[in-house]
Amino acid sequence: MSWQDRFSSALQQRKQNHLLRQRQTLHSPQSTHVSCGNAQLLNFCSNDYLGLANTGGDDLARAAQDWQFGSGASHLVCGHTRAHHDLEKALAEFTGYPRALLFSTGYMANVGVISALAQRGDFIFQDKLNHASLLDGAQLSRAKMTRYRHCDYQQLDDLLSATSGDCLVVSDSIFSMDGDLADVARLAEISQHHDALLMIDDAHGIGVLGKNGHGVREHFDLPQEALPVYIGTLGKALGGYGAFVAGSDDLIEYLIQFSRSYIYTTAMPPAVAQAMLGNLERARDNKLREALTDRIKLFRSGAEARGLPLMDSESPVQPLLTGSSDRALRISDSLKQQGIWISAIRPPTVPQGEARLRVTLTAAHTAEDIATLLTALESAFTGDVQ
Ligand SMILES: *Cc1c(COP(=O)(O)O)cnc(C)c1O
Repeated sequence: MSWQDRFSSALQQRKQNHLLRQRQTLHSPQSTHVSCGNAQLLNFCSNDYLGLANTGGDDLARAAQDWQFGSGASHLVCGHTRAHHDLEKALAEFTGYPRALLFSTGYMANVGVISALAQRGDFIFQDKLNHASLLDGAQLSRAKMTRYRHCDYQQLDDLLSATSGDCLVVSDSIFSMDGDLADVARLAEISQHHDALLMIDDAHGIGVLGKNGHGVREHFDLPQEALPVYIGTLGKALGGYGAFVAGSDDLIEYLIQFSRSYIYTTAMPPAVAQAMLGNLERARDNKLREALTDRIKLFRSGAEARGLPLMDSESPVQPLLTGSSDRALRISDSLKQQGIWISAIRPPTVPQGEARLRVTLTAAHTAEDIATLLTALESAFTGDVQ
């Protein structure tokens, strides 16, 4: 088969299975209300949980006056500025670790950290529903990877008991497509018991979990040693761009030496790093988390009363299971007709037969927005009988 034939047959197959992805182009900044094509849409699919993506433009403009645009080089050559350095310090302080190391994206942080930590001959254990970047990092490391059943810690414990060698345990905190929370206290206990290294990806937890939004470790009240490798991202609740790993001095120093996606890439624009400091300050406002919690409760009680197919989640990620991909698409389309934007999440992002509408809530949504959402969902779900 020629390359061209391979492309077109893969596309054809995706289309036939209702799995073709299409991008929607926004004409306005990220917000609860966006303009998209000719439509004004009430948006329930961003990861902007605290509503901070729509702030910080002035900080960024000021930072750009200080730093202009490009960083000019990788961190180890001459691209590491005081702006990056200050952000690393602030992130270490925010998450309660001795040090943090900034990466350009969460994808790069996960790939770069796992592939630097584990090597051929080591063992990596991952939750079945972990984010793609964590799985890709494990592949790159050449260690032997085993995926345990979702949140099945007994199975993980058994697997670790049966393994001799250096083991790395990796899990999302809040799972990105299901919204449920890993029992990180249990993971810490099991990992410590087996002398395994625990790494948690708190992409959806930082800014959201814990009384002060410091993330999953604050939520479970765990000491730093219980969670030695912490990944946070800056593009979700923190409303900006980038990611970091936090941990001990030695961990960070080791990653500076050996993490290839840290070393062999241009540092993020220093203005972005400096502007992130402003959003980090805004994220300290506990009123944002109170508003978010309130919207989540409002949504869940309303959805329950209407018999919508809720999943077991207390987080801002509130998926509604549709089963088939074409049903997910039909309902998503019908919602769009009503001015509501919720994307249909389909395989391979989720398992076969578990397509869903991934509703996400933010502190910026009003109670009225939630009421509008619930009415539209009820009519879309009852109008589309399986
Ligand atoms: C979004 C996400 C990432 C990737 O972070 P980016 O900064 O968007 O590259 C990593 N892990 C999880 C669990 C995520 O949801």
